[in-house]
Amino acid sequence: MVSTIDLHTHTTCSDGVYSPQQLVGLAVEAGVEVLSITDHDSVAAIREATSLCEDAGIVLVPGTELTAYHDEREVHILGYFVDIEQTWFIELLQLYQAYRISRMERMLERLAVLGVHITMEDVRQDMTGSIGRPHLARALVAKGYCSTVSHAFREYLVPGKPAYVEKYQVSLERAIEIIHQAGGIAVMAHPGISAPDELVIAAKECGLDGIEAHHCDHSATQVRHYVSLAEEHGLVTTGGSDFHGGKVRSNSRVGSAGVPTGTYEKLLEYHNGQ
Ligand code: AMP
Ligand code: ZN
Ligand code: FE
Ligand code: FE
Repeated sequence: MVSTIDLHTHTTCSDGVYSPQQLVGLAVEAGVEVLSITDHDSVAAIREATSLCEDAGIVLVPGTELTAYHDEREVHILGYFVDIEQTWFIELLQLYQAYRISRMERMLERLAVLGVHITMEDVRQDMTGSIGRPHLARALVAKGYCSTVSHAFREYLVPGKPAYVEKYQVSLERAIEIIHQAGGIAVMAHPGISAPDELVIAAKECGLDGIEAHHCDHSATQVRHYVSLAEEHGLVTTGGSDFHGGKVRSNSRVGSAGVPTGTYEKLLEYHNGQ
């Protein structure tokens, strides 16, 4: 049984600060045995990471993190074991990425109205895939408009603040269906920060397979709560650090989510039984 597990990480293919190669290097240093890279709306890191993980003796679970909306609330759905060879799936993710670019242009226009001048080049920096608010937050800090990334979010980028713009509208049902059609398992990401229990239960009715019970932003009480909620509703449990590097979720380190031994085997068994 493997014991050091991290099923939620980000790279420069979305809003992480480390490249897939650097992330695998950090996983090796942390003694991670099973890793999933779950970039927002992207599986671009998986191909490169597959051979690196093979060389390092790490099991790589292909993953992604989709955004869905339910009753105007944004939730994140993790997809594990998705088939990265399916053209329709890759094209759909590319559509979401293209929408993120036009959304970013709208965010920049809104900031310009406030006298905050950031260009697309300022935002892009080293990123290669899904552009998001963390890139903008880093640019706001680099340009001296904000003192920290969390200040940038608080001041401009969270719902209700002037530069906040929603992403491509995908329903909860549709996000789960996409993951299933791509051959994957759908898991509610960090419910403790984005999904009340009623929403998790509604998602189960739409075919949700699991709950991310273990997450760096969940307290021990929340972890116990989500483990029992999962048991009650016949859902699998997963966990991960949600590591981005830098100042986004700066409390998390690769492999640090305390994911219990046996989690991977149970997930694999569930997937194989699907
Ligand atoms: P986006 O996909 O562009 O909407 O950006 C979402 C990302 O922003 C998530 O991965 C979060 O980790 C990060 N994020 C959301 N809220 C905050 C916050 N208040 N402070 C720092 N990072 C945040
Ligand atoms: Zn992120
Ligand atoms: Fe998330
Ligand atoms: Fe994430």
